[in-house]
Amino acid sequence: MDAGTKLIGIFGHPVHHSLSPLFMNEALKSLEINCAYLAFDVEGGRLDGAIRALKTLGWVGSNVTIPHKQAAAALVDSLSEDAAAIGAVNCIVNRGGSLEGHNTDHLGFVEPLRERGLALEGSTVALIGCGGAARGVLYALAKEKAAKVYLINRTEKHAREFIAWAGESLGYRTIDYIGGYGGAGGNAALGRAVGEARLVVNTTPVGMHPLGESSPIPRGIAFHEGALAYDIIYNPFKTEFLRSAVLGGAAALNGLPMLIHQGLHSLALWFPERGPEIFALRAKLLRLAAGALGEPGEPGEPGSCPLGTKGCIFLIGFMGSGKTTVGKILARRLGASFFDTDSLIEERAGMPVPELFATRGEGTFREMERNLLRELSTRSRKRGSRPALVIATGGGLPCSEENLSLMKETGTVVYLRAAADDLIRRVGDGKSRPLIRKLAEGGDLREGIAKLLADRERFYLQADLVVANGLDARPLDAVSRILEKLEMPGGKE
Ligand code: NAP
Repeated sequence: MDAGTKLIGIFGHPVHHSLSPLFMNEALKSLEINCAYLAFDVEGGRLDGAIRALKTLGWVGSNVTIPHKQAAAALVDSLSEDAAAIGAVNCIVNRGGSLEGHNTDHLGFVEPLRERGLALEGSTVALIGCGGAARGVLYALAKEKAAKVYLINRTEKHAREFIAWAGESLGYRTIDYIGGYGGAGGNAALGRAVGEARLVVNTTPVGMHPLGESSPIPRGIAFHEGALAYDIIYNPFKTEFLRSAVLGGAAALNGLPMLIHQGLHSLALWFPERGPEIFALRAKLLRLAAGALGEPGEPGEPGSCPLGTKGCIFLIGFMGSGKTTVGKILARRLGASFFDTDSLIEERAGMPVPELFATRGEGTFREMERNLLRELSTRSRKRGSRPALVIATGGGLPCSEENLSLMKETGTVVYLRAAADDLIRRVGDGKSRPLIRKLAEGGDLREGIAKLLADRERFYLQADLVVANGLDARPLDAVSRILEKLEMPGGKE
């Protein structure tokens, strides 16, 4: 920095979490532009002053983010056609003392779709949410000539206002409100809309860090063959919405490429003469931003949400064999989604496994396991060169010829093997686990476990791959061995 350094800001509230300063400064550095990009936490009443400062201090311009995009549209000297139609400004250019308001969010939204070869013309889209971001998304969908939009939103009044705006401002009238979204099972109209749509977009902040792991659609909804689920949230990298969508058979895309693209378009507005060099930075900036979120991304597809699939990996083994720990690391390495069958069953039953055993019996639990396995198996379709799902199964699930052959048909079965003594040390007295309690009641816990393990190994040892994971092994070693055996270099940890 020196006396000639120019300034660009981002105005938002809160803004401390923003990734923009990181990748925008990297871009400016790469382009050798003597300019700094800084974040300013601007509360509501101060937006006017902040925008006036652009002129007073001769800044290059600024980005505008939540919650000021709509207010900023009224504070600039002129609006681009896009910003006027959307009614929101996310980029301001100081053109010789006159402030132009632009909207690059809709360009950021649509370009990752183009990169994936997804043409929207004539297609049906399910749009979840109708706030500020949804306006830019609908603008893009209308421009891309999407034939029909199903709108899903919590508050009907807001949905009706959005539909009226779409008709008046965009002339887009093939949009139907189909309701909100609710608890397990969801509603029938929602299921039909998601099942029909080629693209399902979440524009609500539901599932965004740090609001918690929730999804705007319930698990268990089947997506259209070849559908793409697009969450414009990028932190966390893989939201609960995207996980549910993958389980429902969809491919997934998060909001990070959108963020980077809207930033590149902002840079191109500030420095129009540098356009081609700016857009050539895309991959580098995606990798940088993904790394900042702790997600290195796929080498070929930096920063995107890689959920291409070659079926799934089932981790089997006795309780205490490390399936969940190893499974989570493995999924992260592969960019896959992780599921634990016991947790999914607890979610569906609305009670913990011990309570399910006590109130509805082991038979019900095993039937739920079987049904869940069938569901997971049909949904783990082949889509790319890597598995999309890593599934840690309950200890008893593979111990039936029917279950085991279904798993081997649809995925790679990996047995995490540990000796009885190691298993006992890992599960402790296992008071919360009904099976361990039952074995302990029979007298000698060690003997009970050793006997049951021997019985179960008749099934476990039919796995495609057996990996030792006793107390002397680290979970990372087991993960490396699995990746090595499956010839999937995944050295990202
Ligand atoms: P917003 O205007 O506050 O979004 C409001 C919408 O979300 C409404 O449809 C609202 O439903 C729904 N909603 C909010 N909280 C909800 C809840 N708890 N349960 C159900 N529905 C809820 O926000 P926005 O500016 O549109 O931004 C939305 C998201 O997009 C944010 O997560 C933001 O980070 C992200 N975004 C990403 C990018 C990117 O570059 N990737 C760009 C822009 C925005 P009601 O009508 O029922 O209130």
